[in-house]
Amino acid sequence: MEEKMNVPFFRPSIGDEEKKAVLDVMDSGWLTTGKVAHEFENEFARYVGSKHALAVNSNTSGMILAMEACGVTRGKAVITTPYTFVSTAASAIHLGADVMFADIEPDSYSISPDSIEEILRADTEHKVAAIVPVHVAGNLCDMKRIRQLADKYSTAENRIRVIEDAAHSFPSKTEAGFAGTLGDVGVFSFYATKTMTTGEGGMVTTSDDSICARMAQMRLHGMSRDAWDRYTNPKASWEYDIIAPGYKSNMPDILAAIGREQLKKAESFRKSRTEIAMRFNEAFAKCDFLTVPPDGEGNSWHLYLIRLNEDKLTITRNEFMEKLRERGLGISMHFIAIHRFTWWKEHFPQYNAETLPNAEKATARTITLPLWPYMDDASVSHVIRSVIETGNAHHA
Ligand SMILES: *Cc1c(COP(=O)(O)O)cnc(C)c1O
Repeated sequence: MEEKMNVPFFRPSIGDEEKKAVLDVMDSGWLTTGKVAHEFENEFARYVGSKHALAVNSNTSGMILAMEACGVTRGKAVITTPYTFVSTAASAIHLGADVMFADIEPDSYSISPDSIEEILRADTEHKVAAIVPVHVAGNLCDMKRIRQLADKYSTAENRIRVIEDAAHSFPSKTEAGFAGTLGDVGVFSFYATKTMTTGEGGMVTTSDDSICARMAQMRLHGMSRDAWDRYTNPKASWEYDIIAPGYKSNMPDILAAIGREQLKKAESFRKSRTEIAMRFNEAFAKCDFLTVPPDGEGNSWHLYLIRLNEDKLTITRNEFMEKLRERGLGISMHFIAIHRFTWWKEHFPQYNAETLPNAEKATARTITLPLWPYMDDASVSHVIRSVIETGNAHHA
């Protein structure tokens, strides 16, 4: 009989500091976006080395704001990866734009610069307004080449922007800087299972003043001044203008208070996740039935993805997942490639196993293992044992 122990997929690290910060906001008389959110923005901007940061209510909201400010609209298109959460691509659809999928690299989960260039070369009408790379699991894409491609194919009338989906990659950091500051705009997520959380929430960063100004106004109904400004500025508080029909994407102070405390712990979280990932790497090094995740410079180690080598196993990936579940592991899968979903199949039939072979292969072979900061030894050992024993028991 195999050993069973319940190991959740993720456990948020919330301490007394977060609880006290929320209570302080509740007592302050100001619950929505105000002083605390602005402080959180300043601290986050300083942390990642960006000129501006805007707190939003999700990465998804932030992505729509970022694309809108970068000129993604009807008649335009974005190039992104199918190997991401669906909101990355759906944001372009909401804006009436087209989506062009570039495949991922064969041996990582990163968007392929060669595949991007192939699309750009064919884009003779200059529809592409933005390239949207995703740093899957926290491992960075080739941002240098992506930046070069955006510049190379930009024209005087159509400047191609780079918007990083940094939902997995805080605080991934390379010599060139933090993930999310390597393109024109970075979009972070503070969803409950991300590397730091506010329950729901996100942040957009940019060093471009005009992109920032547009996102700030569209974040709150297209208003020329936000509520905090209207109540604290000596100018008449009722007076504002609407510059465009905007969204409602601001982050309230209650959530920003959690974010400020989580930010202080982010480096400690990262160190802990990295240590656990290294234990997994070491334990799995001799397993020929799986490939450990790619680990480039400055990985945040948000997730730990294994890729099964099908010719070494007698069971399928789904069966392997079921065996792990039977042992009590909370497992997940990143990602079901977007073009495989019903709506996307109907509207983008040109994308399939032939046009996106690497994304298809990754979808069929990966499993995401439990991982969270300060994960206890018993849980780490149980994950390792479960994977190795399942692989050995069903070895080809
Ligand atoms: C979680 C996630 C999102 C969406 O983030 P929300 O804050 O839930 O909107 C977007 N992209 C990727 C890659 C994600 O993992």
